[in-house]
Amino acid sequence: MSGELSQLRLVDTPAGPITYTLTRKRVKNLNLRVGRDGAVSLSVPPRCALDRADTFVREHGGWIIQVQARQREKRVEPLPPVDRAECVRLLGEALERVYPLVQPLGVAFPQLKLRALKSQWGNCHWAQGYITLNTALARCPERLRDYVALHELVHFLHHNHGPGFYRQMDALMPDWKQRRRALRGYETEFDEKE
Ligand SMILES: [Zn+2]
Repeated sequence: MSGELSQLRLVDTPAGPITYTLTRKRVKNLNLRVGRDGAVSLSVPPRCALDRADTFVREHGGWIIQVQARQREKRVEPLPPVDRAECVRLLGEALERVYPLVQPLGVAFPQLKLRALKSQWGNCHWAQGYITLNTALARCPERLRDYVALHELVHFLHHNHGPGFYRQMDALMPDWKQRRRALRGYETEFDEKE
């Protein structure tokens, strides 16, 4: 047993009714969070009174509803799932599309590995000459796949996210910030995996 007890509670707030998951754990303070899917959770110390928990949520009702609305806006429908072969094709094509941008800068065509990464869209193993792309990218629009592929390719030139890295991105893909922002809407894709 973990010693954690959870229950679902419903409170009326001036901003409207809110359902939240109350969890008792060894914490000192009340800890309120709204997940990316809009789910509200509150962790409280083991002996915290239910009234106090509900009141806390009620007092933060306006903030909760605001965050939920923002999360809803950000969320986007991912493309349908694809099988492994299709995933290999889609991400391989992304790499081939953007590679010509870095080829003149002396980057060798890397080996591509695909993995269901949990918290990253990709990473670059510059010393070993390969990049890894998240299989969840196959369910994102083409321009976002291209952005991640290019991001990882640029790491062969700039190993960290220093000013040089971003200058290079600006030069090669001027709208990369917009693409990165759009990609955030798809992040639940890999959060929920595995
Ligand atoms: Zn990076």
